[in-house]
Order: sequence, then C-alpha cells, then structure tokens
Amino acid sequence: MSTELSAGSAVDVTSLIIELQSAGLRVEAPVESRRGGAGPSDSGMLWIEGIPATVPLQTGPTQTDDARSSPYVLKAEDDGQGIYRDGIKLASVAASHRPRFYDMTTADGVPYWKIALLHLDSLASTVLQTCNYWGNSDQCRFCGIGVSLDSGNTIAKKTPAQLAEVAVAARDLDGAVDATLTTGSTRAPDRGALYVAECGRAVKEASGLPVEVQFEPPHDLAVLDRVHGAGVDAVGIHVESFDPAVLAHVAPGKFRTGIETYFRTWERAVELFGAGRVSTYVILGMGEDPDLTIAACKRAVEIGVYPFVVPLRPVAGSLMEEVAPPTAEYTERVYRKVAGYLTERGIGADTAVAGCVRCQACSGINGLQNELSGGKPLLQIGSRPAGLS
Ligand code: SF4
Repeated sequence: MSTELSAGSAVDVTSLIIELQSAGLRVEAPVESRRGGAGPSDSGMLWIEGIPATVPLQTGPTQTDDARSSPYVLKAEDDGQGIYRDGIKLASVAASHRPRFYDMTTADGVPYWKIALLHLDSLASTVLQTCNYWGNSDQCRFCGIGVSLDSGNTIAKKTPAQLAEVAVAARDLDGAVDATLTTGSTRAPDRGALYVAECGRAVKEASGLPVEVQFEPPHDLAVLDRVHGAGVDAVGIHVESFDPAVLAHVAPGKFRTGIETYFRTWERAVELFGAGRVSTYVILGMGEDPDLTIAACKRAVEIGVYPFVVPLRPVAGSLMEEVAPPTAEYTERVYRKVAGYLTERGIGADTAVAGCVRCQACSGINGLQNELSGGKPLLQIGSRPAGLS
C-alpha cells in the first residue's frame, strides 16, 4: 500500500486503519483500551471517522525505540481527538468515554467491568479465564488469557446470571449492540462450548442482544446442536493459522486438533447456524505462507465460513510480545484476495449478526470488501495546524 500523506491529498480510511494496525499509534490523549484476554488482544479502541478500529498503542518503552516508534500520533483536540502524522491531521477520532456500566457492581460485590468489557459497541467477555493450554508447552504463543487474571482485572469464571445482568446495563447505559463471549479451552469433551453457550443463552434471554460464542472444536459434533439449541446467533471456532508448520509452533494444542478437524466442525456449524454466521480468526504475521493461507481462506469461504483475517497483535505478557505486527502491504494483499472471495460468496459483516466479524474493528478486511462494492470513504488531509509538530 502506498499511502502518501501530505496536506491536500486524500487517503481512504481503510488504508489508514490497515497502516495503524501495522505501525501502531503513539498516544498523547486518553483512550479506552483492552489488555489481556483470550486470543490476540491488546489494543486501543477507537472510532476513526466513524469506523470502529482497534490499534496497537504505544504508550511505553517503544516510544523511545526509534525502530519501532510509530509515525502516527493520537492527540487531544477541543472536541475529541485527532490522528496526526508529521504534524498533519489525517483523521478525527470520536472522544472515548469510560462506559457508565463500569461503575456498577453485582449484588455479591463484583464490579461489572471485571465481568465484561465494552469493545466499542460490543459487549465482550472471556467467561472462563483459564485455559488448559495456558502455562504449559501447548500455550498459544500470541494469547494473553492468563495475563489479565494474574493482574486481578477480571474473575476466573463468570456466571450466566452475572453476564445477563451486565449485558442489560451495557445495552441500556452504553448502547451495546451485541455480545461476544469467548472461553479458554477445557479438558472436557465439549472443550468449554456448553458453558459459554449457557452464558450466551442467559445474555440473549435477558437483553435480547445478538450473541456470538467462541470455543474450540468439541470432540463430538453433536455438542454443536446443543450450542445451537441455546439460541445463540453465531459461533467463532478459531484455527488462528492455516499453515501447519506455523500452527505447530505457535499453537501446538490447536495443531494437534488438526486443521481438517476445524473444517469438519465448521461444516456442521454452518449447517446449523447458516453461511456467514460461523467464523475463524486467521492471524497474519506469524511466518505463514501467504499463498497457502489465501487458498485455505478460499476453501473456508466456499463452505460458508468467514475467515476473520487480522494482523498479529503482540500482547504484553504473551510469548510473542516482542514480535512486530506484519506490514500493511502484506496484510492488505491477503485482505484483498479474501474480500473478493467473501463478496463472491455473499457473506460479510452484515451476515455475521454478532461477534468479531460483525464488529470488524480488529481487521481492515471489511473496508476493502466495501470498496469492492463501490463504497470508499475518503479523508481530505488537512493543512498543518498551528502549534503542532
Ligand atoms: S486455546 Fe489458545 S488462544 Fe484460546 S484461550 Fe487457550 S491459549 Fe488462548
């Protein structure tokens, strides 16, 4: 991607978001962020020109490390914030406020923010903050599920009743539009799917919000019927990488499960939930073969699965915390291919109904899919404001 940013030029928002998700954003203004949690997680959560985006924040030592210091800076403005490069404003960012439900506490004394967080407009929770892979040789190298538990920022197990209570408050006080519930993997044959589905049922019944639940492939595919019977709207079953050599190294437990097991599980899930309501994370930047990755994404799309392609988000405390995200050029190349397949198959953020694919903040793929459909929001790059360097 060539993003020549200068006064008077135009850049599309998607290109800027893809660039930020690779280069990161130095922050000189307060921003809502997420640390730890299952999967690839650490990020700042921003509305950039009205489009949701999570981007790696540089608030600490990387700011003094020239090689990794981002040229993009978030600065406070009178009404919200702005993203600048070389003193030139590129985009406006809506002011972020601490969600109001964070100030509430359950009857048994647990703060709501320890039960679920608001990710832009999606309520998100890791219902079981433990994973049978964590802390041993099977631990997924990009994951931070144990980090937030150790920090005391969450509780190990959230109950369906707690989650339902928080979901209603998040909907009413802060405008949450859906709920995304994930879980660490368990040793039980269902791998934790039934518990997260039970939590999803409680959230949906109490709040009416669409719900996505995420889990590892259960040993018996009949578990998927019970997940579907819980009334949740969408499922995420995350292979993380289609490159077997990479998977063996970064997620040995998932490698043992086997990529073909993911495909078999997805096929049954699509029969139950419908095309576009089953998704998998596909993380770029872990050494994978891009052509193999694109081909496997195509195969997934053909059976109705949305491969949610995202750049690696190095999580502090994870085994990959020192690995830099992939370049914007690399991710955009993969996004463009996969976005084309999604468009041909007729699935996208709107068909997902709930969850990571509905939200889209962690990827630039939806912007490119919209672009293929003719919509491309352009930013007019402003002239250098006085007093900014
Ligand atoms: S399966 Fe991997 S990504 Fe998921 S919670 Fe466990 S260690 Fe993290």
